[in-house]
Amino acid sequence: MKKNIKSFDLEDLKEEMKLIGEKPFRAEQIFKWLFQDKVMSFDEMTNLSLELRQKLNENYSIGNFKIVKMLESVDGTKKYLFDVQDEEGNLIETVLMEYHHGYSVCVSSQIGCKMGCKFCASTGIPFSRGLEAGEIVEQIVAIEQDQGIKVSNIVYMGVGEPLDNFENVMKSIEIINNPKGLNIGARHISISTSGIVPKIYELADKKLQCTLSISLHASNNAKRSAMMPVNDAYPIEKLMEACKYYIEKTNKRISFEYALAKDNNDNLDDAKELVKLLSGMLAHVNLIPINHIEDGKFTKSTNENIIRFRDYLNDHGITATIRRELGSDIEAACGQLRRKNIKAQ
Ligand code: SF4
Repeated sequence: MKKNIKSFDLEDLKEEMKLIGEKPFRAEQIFKWLFQDKVMSFDEMTNLSLELRQKLNENYSIGNFKIVKMLESVDGTKKYLFDVQDEEGNLIETVLMEYHHGYSVCVSSQIGCKMGCKFCASTGIPFSRGLEAGEIVEQIVAIEQDQGIKVSNIVYMGVGEPLDNFENVMKSIEIINNPKGLNIGARHISISTSGIVPKIYELADKKLQCTLSISLHASNNAKRSAMMPVNDAYPIEKLMEACKYYIEKTNKRISFEYALAKDNNDNLDDAKELVKLLSGMLAHVNLIPINHIEDGKFTKSTNENIIRFRDYLNDHGITATIRRELGSDIEAACGQLRRKNIKAQ
């Protein structure tokens, strides 16, 4: 198997150049071709010698994806299904959203997911492997190429648990953030986790300026464990300790994601518990009207409950906003498109 050249960050690529008998500055040229010019082949890297291009062709793949399907929502959200071109024929999905501040891409970090959250369409898709750094970055490169746009924000909120693929996700952030790479500022990168506590400490120690989002979804252990099995391993108290450590280390506000499901976690008692949990923390709550998924047991809260929940939080000192629903007509819940394609095969 040839190595995917998009999986190297700039420093590693310089080392790699030395290994094949080339000067390290070649790495910068290659990086520019890959992530700024977004060429599809080594042969297009015209400022490299023929000999070097040949070496690259022999030793590395350029990691292009094939677009299997692209669905477009009435609100402009686009959902891509990519063939990652590996030996297993794996498919992954990525979402492009347009906001007033620019384009945002929601990347997948794994093929399938082990976490088994009950409200997630990825549950039931067997976990296959973590994506390589180059496969994470390629989701953005392929969309920029296809749409002729420059993406300004990245969220690690697609299929997979990013902190369960820690090294590759960190490497992909290096490439995305590097001014010679995709040149997207750390403040415009958001990492979401279901709450893998030891990795939150590890991430905190890196002191990145990325935003951390915690998929909280319930304010007590009984309800959270019923929605998210990860809570059995890392209960809310441990998770909150890790969050406080993260805030202390980075001085950054944490975004808590809370998907409201009807008659489950959307009543005022839940809101009261949530206020208790987050009081005094540098936190923001992102309320998400849950996406109904086929055969999922949770259904969307009523608008009335969602607004009441938000107002209760805001009135009690916790900043809360309701996330705009995007792409609900194109199976925007993560994993839905891939699941449909797998079923159809
Ligand atoms: S919500 Fe995220 S972490 Fe949970 S099963 Fe789905 S992809 Fe995995």
